[in-house]
Amino acid sequence: MDVFYGAIQALFSVSLEVDEGEIVTLIGANGAGKSTLLKTISGLLKPRTGSIYFENEDLTKKSPIEIVKSGISHVPEGRRVFPEMTVIENLELGAYVRKDRSEVEKDLKIVFERFPRLYERRNQLAGTLSGGEQQMLAIGRALMSRPRLLLLDEPSMGLAPILVSEIFEIIKEINARGTTILLIEQNANMALSVANRAYVIETGRIVLSGTSQEVASNPDVKKAYLGG
Ligand code: ATP
Repeated sequence: MDVFYGAIQALFSVSLEVDEGEIVTLIGANGAGKSTLLKTISGLLKPRTGSIYFENEDLTKKSPIEIVKSGISHVPEGRRVFPEMTVIENLELGAYVRKDRSEVEKDLKIVFERFPRLYERRNQLAGTLSGGEQQMLAIGRALMSRPRLLLLDEPSMGLAPILVSEIFEIIKEINARGTTILLIEQNANMALSVANRAYVIETGRIVLSGTSQEVASNPDVKKAYLGG
């Protein structure tokens, strides 16, 4: 697909596939087009050419809310929790497309089991949480719509190394419980260590793809993204 911001083209003939059960990572430098791709999948941007299919359903003309209802949830870059709302209120917002209240309560319980720190802070305003806790809240909120595909935009950004490891453990666990994941990362080392497959994007074009091992052993990738 091709995606534009006004007259400026951000993605050029980008084609990408995520199979059920996988963790796929998209790595690339600042401004390469990673966030643009996720925003296009979740309906915040519309491609000028091309289409997006999820479980045989054409999402290309659907609204962001319809896309959430179809089973895709997006954790945006920079977390974007609602700072003036409590942890619980933020989580409940993640389920706003659902009507099955008793199931929503169950999922709230599951999120709190997975993130005990969020449970301890459930009545605290989200804006007063640490960066790592806000990232957990953003992921927890996305899980509240029961996605089958989770889009994660730079979940490790701005976090201390110990928290980065914790977030990646959480990503693996969410995947192990059956959620497919498309992960954008600048921390290519970590991303390749958890992903089954990887794509490399440079200035709006996919330049390489393969299994994580293949991509990690590519000399250009080593030089550009893996610190030599
Ligand atoms: P980063 O990690 O820095 O966010 P990225 O790979 O996610 O990088 P994008 O945010 O997708 O990159 O940006 C891709 C290109 O599109 C960049 O050249 C950027 O300047 C441009 N772009 C992004 N958002 C807009 C916008 N709202 N209007 C115009 N151009 C934009």
